Amino acid sequence: APAAQKFEFQAEVKQLLDIVIHSLYTEKEVFVRELVSNASDALEKLRHTQLTEKAIYDDALELEINVTTDDTAKTITIQDFGIGMTRDELVQNLGTIAHSGSKAFLKALSEGGAKNTNLIGQFGVGFYSVFMAAESVKVYSRSWRNDEPGHVWTSSGSGSYEIEPSEGERRGTKIVIQLKDDCADFAQDWRIKEILERYSAFVSFPINLNAKRINTIQALWLRNKNEIKDEEYTEFYKFQAHAYDEPRLRLHFSADAPLAINSLLFVPKENTEKLGFSRLDPSVSLYCRKVLIDAHPKDLLPEWLRFLKGVVDSEDLPLNISRETMQDKALIDKLGRVITKRFLKLLEDEAKNRADAYAEFYAEFGHFLKEGAAMDFAHKDQLTGLLRFESSLTEPGKLTSLADYVTRMGAEQKDIYYLVGPSRAAIESGPYLEGFRARNLEVLFCYESVDEYVMHNLREFDSKTLRAADHADVKLPDLPQPSEGALGKDETSALTTWLKDTLGTERVAEVTASDRLVDSPVLATSADKMMSPHMRRLMKAMKQ
Ligand code: ADP
Ligand code: MG
Repeated sequence: APAAQKFEFQAEVKQLLDIVIHSLYTEKEVFVRELVSNASDALEKLRHTQLTEKAIYDDALELEINVTTDDTAKTITIQDFGIGMTRDELVQNLGTIAHSGSKAFLKALSEGGAKNTNLIGQFGVGFYSVFMAAESVKVYSRSWRNDEPGHVWTSSGSGSYEIEPSEGERRGTKIVIQLKDDCADFAQDWRIKEILERYSAFVSFPINLNAKRINTIQALWLRNKNEIKDEEYTEFYKFQAHAYDEPRLRLHFSADAPLAINSLLFVPKENTEKLGFSRLDPSVSLYCRKVLIDAHPKDLLPEWLRFLKGVVDSEDLPLNISRETMQDKALIDKLGRVITKRFLKLLEDEAKNRADAYAEFYAEFGHFLKEGAAMDFAHKDQLTGLLRFESSLTEPGKLTSLADYVTRMGAEQKDIYYLVGPSRAAIESGPYLEGFRARNLEVLFCYESVDEYVMHNLREFDSKTLRAADHADVKLPDLPQPSEGALGKDETSALTTWLKDTLGTERVAEVTASDRLVDSPVLATSADKMMSPHMRRLMKAMKQ
């Protein structure tokens, strides 16, 4: 057999190696993900080849990936029984950049001086990431073609590689990684297990680590939803979201434009933030062809959607997507917009067709919708439409939407009124409601401390101003007939002057006669444009 032959890496590959090893990836561990992804690709290619070719070397081999670790020798071995590589293919795929346009790209890169890492991801450089952790790498490969013998490719990632024949190889590729001393922990079984479970849990071919199967759960989001049972969804949810409850809502959809997306999302049963646990991390994980890119992407969805769990998979994303570059940000934004739109649509359907379930959802997660309505300008209108409140006309515990409130407004009513208070009883026993009741004006009841902030931020709904019913500016229409025993004009002005003098300017700014009261003799209103009495109480409570 011919002896070992030495090759220089193509000049561009040397440049790439330098970038890949030193700056492309933030986590060294992703080399495992890259090699397993390549193994999975190789198996997929073999599966396709089997459909058309009769004569396949080692045809009976299982389509699987076997990973073994040896912590004394400090090695990891990743073997697949996939399509394999011939000698020429080893040179082509691991020693040169085959993609067209890559030279131009590298030229631009070196001229511009900037490291545009985003673009590199599209040139197929995953394999080289192994040199972040490897002192040397041996790639044993045997093509599916019967007449192509096996070879071993060896390199330490610094300038050159060698290829020599290798007898007795099985079909596919076996990569033996001799780890650098400071990366020796990658030879621990538990460490690789953790990495495989994180990034490669949904790879379609079996992955065995030291003879134990790692990936037993399917990438459910890619299956046809008509063929999936509820129990399968629940099992997937528990696995993927590390959850113990049952999902309350789910959304399984795919889209082709503006991006290829397959997504499976869940709303949990319980809102743990409400239970007093810490603020949730964004938990819709980003995948590209079943391989994890980011489990907690910060900028994918608006903040208020942090209670959503699940997966979004887009083949349009490069594996090493970085959130810093503009191009990647635009992609992520686009993805986020599609998902948010779909999810809002789901909530609108729920609210319309399954009002009871929606009310239960709202009781648990309404807080997030309020936050969104106040802060997420792009979705404000839709979110406002999804808000629900008790009101002076609802039964206790029953909620109304702003849209329904509007349908009950009389022709002369211009504004939507609300009152903030700790409970229904507190609001109903206070003096502020009387004048509204007497005029048949509905008032929304707001019990949560965020409500005031939300109402203030919304300002209006359906072109109607949202007004605090306890604000001095509120002007109510005349009552049909003056109350019995009402004071005359002169008597009234004498009384208000006396009250103002007696109370003094440090206690009241103004005393006026008002027809907002029916049974109570007097009420205090806030003339403060900035702060309502409730807000002032809140501020006071916070300072103490
Ligand atoms: P990409 O996977 O994006 O093409 P990589 O740098 O990860 O880029 O791999 C380069 C090429 O090497 C692959 O396109 C493939 O042709 C070949 N290759 C890598 N690993 C394997 C493998 N396990 N089996 C067969 N071919 C492989
Ligand atoms: Mg790859």
